[in-house]
Amino acid sequence: MRKYVIMGVQGSGKGTQSALLADDLDLVHISVGDIFRWHVKHHTKLGAQVRRLVAAGELVGDDLVEDVVKDRLQLHDWNYGFIIDGFPRNRRQAEFFLESYDLDGVIHLDLPDDEVRRRVLARRLCSRCGMDYNLIAHRPEVEGRCDVCGGNLVTREDDTPDALARRLADYHSKIDPVVELFKRKEYVMTIDARADKATVQRAIRTRFNLPPYLPSDARLSG
Ligand SMILES: [Zn+2]
Repeated sequence: MRKYVIMGVQGSGKGTQSALLADDLDLVHISVGDIFRWHVKHHTKLGAQVRRLVAAGELVGDDLVEDVVKDRLQLHDWNYGFIIDGFPRNRRQAEFFLESYDLDGVIHLDLPDDEVRRRVLARRLCSRCGMDYNLIAHRPEVEGRCDVCGGNLVTREDDTPDALARRLADYHSKIDPVVELFKRKEYVMTIDARADKATVQRAIRTRFNLPPYLPSDARLSG
């Protein structure tokens, strides 16, 4: 049984790195963002609550996040463990988490703010089918056009420099203290997230003594 928390600012590759670990090690990937998006998409009561907050320009509160995570963990479908992304969001939640679950470690993906800006401001979205692009890592074949449906690529509404600056400030004020708390308990491995995704994944595996990362084509031919 392996239990991890992954922390990192938006654009640090948390989702990608969690998915690679989860797939390979049979961990359940608990992404708070994905859970909320699922509720919004399926028009649940919780989804309606999230929609109202977002429409009012507010963030989803820490207590609501905590309830969602507790409910999710209580399903106990994580026979081989879990990797959780988007929680804890404050020191109280971090302390609760440390007391309640015997964590194997905290993966801290470290990415400087200027690199976050470079990555996030390069994101584009197809206005027709919703496919994600990135002008650095995943360019469309034809500039400004979706490879899948030919729709126009647009910038997300909240990916402006001002909105990003606010999110970065919010992240640092809330999450830096959580990382510091975990560090005092010696659970944290800080990984340089500037490298490509395979390099970052290999670094995580090495630091936590996990089985080596073999990209899937290498695995097939081996
Ligand atoms: Zn499209």
